[in-house]
Amino acid sequence: MTVIAIDGTFASGKGTLGKGLAAHYGLPYLDTGKLYRATAKRVLDAGGDVSNSSDGTNAAKRISAKDLADPILKSGPIGAAASKVSVHPDVRAALFKFQRDFAAKGGVLDGRDIGTVICPDADVKLYVTASPEERARRRHAELTGYGETLSVADVLAQLKERDTRDSTRAAAPLKPAEDAHLLDTTGMSIAEVLKAAIEMCDAILVR
Ligand code: C5P
Repeated sequence: MTVIAIDGTFASGKGTLGKGLAAHYGLPYLDTGKLYRATAKRVLDAGGDVSNSSDGTNAAKRISAKDLADPILKSGPIGAAASKVSVHPDVRAALFKFQRDFAAKGGVLDGRDIGTVICPDADVKLYVTASPEERARRRHAELTGYGETLSVADVLAQLKERDTRDSTRAAAPLKPAEDAHLLDTTGMSIAEVLKAAIEMCDAILVR
């Protein structure tokens, strides 16, 4: 079973890359951010507080595959709430089995802790990032497409806040696994990123 683990910063292009690699290698793909986003949405819909561990954990325990299809999950406010709910160790523990079960059949998973916590034995680990300014521009374009009206400067400020929260939390902080291959996508097109990643994966998978 081939497992490709992709971690990286917010709006680094890891989701687009994950889908591209999954299509290239014929593997299923899981955007694990959607688990945290769906958890945050459940908490908010129930009138709960994403900063409260038990509100988050109760919601996380109810997450199933059908929660992940809702297009609202990609919105900016749900993403910010997901970053807050994901700091709770019990929330992370409640979402662990879903991710492990998915990986057990082989696949491409992207997130923040895939190579470090969820799939430490993944065949290939990639850590994707780009400069904050480039990530803010990309995310701004995406949010504008969803009809949101933030400025690039607002997106940049939110992104720096998200980076800090994701990488300084005690539970499964965002960081490259020791054996991850680093991919800085600043100034690269989607096709260039995919090509570079396939070369990295082929060097390991095709022997
Ligand atoms: O990747 P995405 O922006 O959808 O993730 C939303 C939030 O969920 C992240 O900011 C992060 O706090 C959290 N997350 C996480 N671990 C993952 C995936 C996402 O903590 N594996």
